[in-house]
Amino acid sequence: MSINIEILGSGSEVGRSSIVVSGKKRVVMDCGVKIQPEPPKYPPVEKVDAAIISHAHLDHVGAVPMLFRKGKIPVYMNDITLELGTMLVKDSMKVARKEGFTVPFDKSHVNRMVKNTKIVRYNEKFRIGEFNCSLWHSGHIPGSSSIMLDAGKKIFYTADIQTRPSHLLNPCQLPDKVDTLILESTYGMKVQALRAKEEKRLVDAVEETLSNDGVALMPVFAVGRAQEVMLVLKDYMNKIALDGMVKLASEIVAQYGSYIKAPKEFRNILKKVKFIRTNEDRAGALKKYPIIIASAGMLGGGPAVHYLREIQSFGDAKVLFTGFLVEESPGRNLIETKIFENDEERFHVSGDLQQLELSAHADRNGLLDIIRKTRPEKVICVHGDKCAEFAKDIEEEFKVQAYAPKNGESIRV
Ligand SMILES: [Zn+2]
Repeated sequence: MSINIEILGSGSEVGRSSIVVSGKKRVVMDCGVKIQPEPPKYPPVEKVDAAIISHAHLDHVGAVPMLFRKGKIPVYMNDITLELGTMLVKDSMKVARKEGFTVPFDKSHVNRMVKNTKIVRYNEKFRIGEFNCSLWHSGHIPGSSSIMLDAGKKIFYTADIQTRPSHLLNPCQLPDKVDTLILESTYGMKVQALRAKEEKRLVDAVEETLSNDGVALMPVFAVGRAQEVMLVLKDYMNKIALDGMVKLASEIVAQYGSYIKAPKEFRNILKKVKFIRTNEDRAGALKKYPIIIASAGMLGGGPAVHYLREIQSFGDAKVLFTGFLVEESPGRNLIETKIFENDEERFHVSGDLQQLELSAHADRNGLLDIIRKTRPEKVICVHGDKCAEFAKDIEEEFKVQAYAPKNGESIRV
């Protein structure tokens, strides 16, 4: 029986991942929203029989409640992904409302998502129609999963994946033979700097900040990156304050400790860093805590923007980005132009702006390694700015068929 793979979102773009695999049943893998650049964009997801969600980042989970506008379906994910994902979805609704964007679902749909979620563990088999399904540890954030769908032919969707270990997580687990590999391609055309070198750059920047009585703002993704950065900077715990969704996300990660490498160490860090809880806390934060870890990671909103304004008055002010910055996001624009701009304001940032590569994604070498290990016949590149170039390189190197579909395109496997 032939199987059709339809790309609804993440085709040659980073954001709104949504891929439908259909045989007799239609299964959607991920259902995310693209929040940057604004306005938010949702995938045109139509009647599906079930959903499987890889991890709790908005571009993978942010549109799941849309699936409950007409009736209900089972949604499969692990427990930490449901908890973190629900937090992110609720927050994104608030943000969208505040900025005047319409959201194609409401609170009742979020509640139905939670009610209809079936919790599955890593490597636990579950069945959707003809598909034998399982989640594989993908090493990207706590709870992140690659998804295997096996209906005679094996389809393996990496989702966001990391082949290298981090302080927070072990590297991904991979099957040794698949038929079709749906490969995230965020860094398909880029080899990252050595991790140890980047961590040293981060520690050096923090040291310099402290010795100059300066301040360092780290805009981070609340889920994953924030916790990794805290582990890298564990020697500076009493100098660090957390603000924004980073706080709740970190508490959830600590609660679901079995998903991370060193839960005890992480819980200990959380006890020692400052949680900014009130406006008063926030107003005085920079004078007491020279290192601020705050969401949002791409400066699309959140308290990070407040601190960005405030740090200007310090002699040594740094902004340290540690994650992927989507094209045209305020963070990417700031790094490129030294100008911060959103709908409400525009200002020049005179501080020291750095981007560090502590990525939670595999780089080009890691992605090529995944192909080597999983030995697919077909590779479908998604979730990247340069999917077409990457797919061409893959065809040349591995003599397999490689695709870089656009949104709305389908591939028969
Ligand atoms: Zn992700």
